[in-house]
Formats: sequence, structure tokens, C-alpha cells
Amino acid sequence: MRRPLPAGFLQRLEDIVGGAFVIADAERLLPYGADETPNLRPSLPDVVVRPGSADEAADVVRACAEAKVFITPRGAGTGKSGGCVPIHGGVVLALDRLTRIVDIDQADGTCNVEPGVILETLQQAVADRGMFYPPDPASLASCTLGGNVAENAGGPRALKYGVTSSYVLGLDLVLPTGERLRTGKRTTKGVAGYDLTSLVVGSEGTLAVVTGITLKLLPSPRFVQTALAVFPSSEAAVLGVNAIFGAGVLPRTLEYLDRASIDAVRAMSPPYRFPAGAGAALLVETDGESEAGTLEALSRALEACADAGATDTLLATDSKKQREIWATRRMLSEATKRIKGRKVSEDIVVPRSKIPEMVARTGALGDKHDLLTCSFGHAGDGNLHTQILFDSDEDLPRVDALLDELFRVVLELGGTITGEHGVGISKKPWLPLELSDEVIALSLRLKHAFDPAGILNPGKVFPEKLALRAAKRDQTT
Ligand SMILES: Cc1cc2nc3c(=O)[nH]c(=O)nc-3n(C[C@H](O)[C@H](O)[C@H](O)COP(=O)(O)OP(=O)(O)OC[C@H]3O[C@@H](n4cnc5c(N)ncnc54)[C@H](O)[C@@H]3O)c2cc1C
Repeated sequence: MRRPLPAGFLQRLEDIVGGAFVIADAERLLPYGADETPNLRPSLPDVVVRPGSADEAADVVRACAEAKVFITPRGAGTGKSGGCVPIHGGVVLALDRLTRIVDIDQADGTCNVEPGVILETLQQAVADRGMFYPPDPASLASCTLGGNVAENAGGPRALKYGVTSSYVLGLDLVLPTGERLRTGKRTTKGVAGYDLTSLVVGSEGTLAVVTGITLKLLPSPRFVQTALAVFPSSEAAVLGVNAIFGAGVLPRTLEYLDRASIDAVRAMSPPYRFPAGAGAALLVETDGESEAGTLEALSRALEACADAGATDTLLATDSKKQREIWATRRMLSEATKRIKGRKVSEDIVVPRSKIPEMVARTGALGDKHDLLTCSFGHAGDGNLHTQILFDSDEDLPRVDALLDELFRVVLELGGTITGEHGVGISKKPWLPLELSDEVIALSLRLKHAFDPAGILNPGKVFPEKLALRAAKRDQTT
């Protein structure tokens, strides 16, 4: 349901942001038709607009609202569910020029940033002042804070420190009607009124455009210790996950890698070499205020791993080794893609105690559909990046069948179909399996309250049929 742009609309956009920041020629539009979601059909916008300030962004949204032109917000395009792909054309509103860190306030433990700031840039800036911003998706060197807010991004440290929503105190928003407003607060506590900030966090760019973000910061932990526990098999490693919690340790990260993932990353000549013959591994990290306490917690975690069958435990003896281990961990997404050439990468979550069953049933589903699967990810959260590896389009019907059964197993075990990447386009068909009709209906009423004309990021999150039915009902009431 593409709509042609009204006459004079491009000129209006150029008047707002300047001709250099309006992109309408086909070749330059290409990068804006996709994100990092595997196997997604690209879809080009009619025009890309790159405002240079929050005021310009608001004026662009107002112009779109008046002309009823679709708007799809975009950060860095690292999303993994197609959220910033303009499937109905219109304007891509690229926030990549809004890159100011407005302030970092050590006394209050807060900072104000624009949405186009790259996550790693902020982390470095606050670290330079002895502060800590914990969320750490593996894409941290390229993703934006606006994208993190929209996807409620997590990462390995979510286990101890929580995900993006734990740090967002307030937001500057432009509603798809063109109205501007500020939600939330600058303090870590505050319960006045509905928590609209939390509603917008994780709404995948469907409720409002974020033009300013107030974040909570923590003091940097003084000591961090990292180790690898090597297991003969996946079965033993996933038992190790629960053994660590059984020993009363809350690591700051607890990452799982199966044999195929380890072998795949080894083929990329990574900075850290996993031990030969590792059947699976857990990457365990603890942090704290004293070196002895941090080491003691790590030792207890590793003892628990040994009791669960770990054959080797390797301590990262210095910060260089720690950096090498994490750089290697961040290569897993690309490395597993190279195993077969094509893959689907999921981010399922199950209660921790169900990880062994989930891993076993994923393997069985792979056998049933004659497809190779492997898993790595944030096992401490029960969040596994299950990879389905395949060669060509011919395999896609079997991939879809496997996915459908995988999500049903996840829900049967009390989990969720997406822990980090969002629903976007790619998980829309399965959303009604997880959410009740009542929850979907209320969500669509909220969407209508924010976006009565339905112009912001259309076609995302909710299956089209349900969204259309709700829109018709809204028109008749
Ligand atoms: C290699 C790799 C590893 C990854 N690892 C992780 C991980 O560990 N954890 C994790 O959570 N994610 C991970 N991701 C997914 C992705 O990086 C995150 O979802 C990230 O938050 C997206 O940020 P972005 O700037 O690229 O947003 P985009 O992809 O550009 O957009 C994502 C969504 O946010 C919306 N959006 C963007 N900016 C705004 C704004 N200012 N206002 C309103 N809506 C907006 C878009 O419309 C879209 O719906 C990974 C991705 C890759 C490629």
C-alpha cells in the first residue's frame, strides 16, 4: 500500500533540512531499503531525510503528518527484525546526524544525548569520567542510542545490569501527529502519572520519534574478572549455567557457545583462540568493588562449572586478554553465517531452568527438518541466539517449518519469541501465539492514540490483518 508523494513535497523537505540532506535518487536510496535482518526482501523508501537537529526532525514529521506520508525512523540500520525497513515506502527519517552528547552529569549520574549517538561513543565518554553505561549489544560499535531505545536493546551484561529500559529516565518525542513532548524525569525515582517513557522504550519506532534521551549512569565497577569454562558437550555446559546460580553467584555476564559456534569463530582467525576440541564453553565474568571479592565470586562460579563437568577453566589474566575474548565473542554472528552461507538468527528466551531442554529440542528439530542448527548467547538470561544454517532459497520452506515449531516449543517452555531483536517484520506472524487477543487489541488502541493516521512505521510488529481490523473499528467508533 504505497502512496505517491504529493506534489511539492520534496521541496518542502529540502526547505526544512537543506537539499544536501534529502536523498531521492534510486542508487543512494539502496542502503536504506534493508537492515541486518537475514533473508529480508529489501524495500526502498521514496525519499530519505537526514535532519540536523531535533527541531528539523519535528518539522519533517509535521510535514509528513499534514501530507499523510509514511515515516520510518532509522538509526544505524543494525536491527535484526526489519524495523527500519520502509515496507510501504514514504520517508525514511534517518537520525544519524543527531550525534551530540549534550551533557554528562557525574553528580546526578545522568546524561542527555541525541538519538544518533553511537553506543560505544557514549560508553567511552562516560568511562573517561569514571562512569558506566552497561547495555552492550554486540553491535555497540555501530548501533545508535535511538535504535537501542526503540528496540530496548540488551546484551551480555543485561544479566546483572538489565537492558536499555533500566537506564532510560526521560525522552524528547515527536508524535506522528507532529506534537512534541517530553516524558519522564531526570531523577532515578519518580512515579508521577503513567510511565509513558517505558511505553515508548521497545515500541520499535511505531509510537513516536525519539529526538532526545536522558539516561541513568552508574559508577564504573572497579574490578572485572573474566574466565572461560570449557565443557565436553552442550549438555554439560547448559547444566553449568544453573550450577553457577545454584552456587549463589550472579555473574555480570554468562555467555554460552556450542561446538559449532566455537569451530566457526576459530575459522576466522580471531584474536582469542578457544582451546582445541572444546565441545562447548561458558564465558563468565564477575565485577565488583574489591579484587578479592570479584575473584572469589569467579572462583565459585568456575568450581560449580567443574562440578557440572567442565574439563578446563581459563582465566583472562589481563585486560588485553579480556578485550580479545570479547572481540572474539562479537565475531560469532558473522562466523556462524559463514558455516553454510545463509542463516536465520533467532533470539529466543526460555526460563533458565529450561535451557537444557530447549537446547536438546532445538537439536531434535534440526534433525527432523534436516537442517544444521547451532546456538550461542546470553545463557544467564535464558536468551539463546539460535542459528538455523542453510544453503539456498530451496531450503526456506523447511527453515520456516522449523522456526514455527521452535517458537511453539519456546512458548510451551514459558519463554518468549524475542529477547532483544524485536518483532519488526520478521516475527509478526508469531506474535499472536505469544500475546492474547486482548493484549493485542489494547496495544492497537494505544497505537491509535499516538498515531491516529497510522503513518509511523506502518506494517511493523502487528500482523496486517489485525491492524486493519482495529483501524476499521476505530473509524466506526
Ligand atoms: C552483529 C549484530 C549484533 C547484535 N547484537 C545485539 C545484542 O547483543 N543485543 C541486542 O539487543 N541487539 C543486538 N543487535 C541488534 C541491533 O543492533 C539493535 O537492535 C540496535 O538497538 C539497533 O540500533 P540501530 O541504531 O541500528 O537501529 P535501526 O536498526 O536503525 O532501527 C531499529 C528500530 O528502531 C527504530 N528507531 C531507530 N531510531 C529511532 C528513533 N530515534 N526514534 C524512534 N525509533 C527509532 C527503527 O524504526 C527500527 O524500528 C545486533 C545486531 C547486529 C548486526
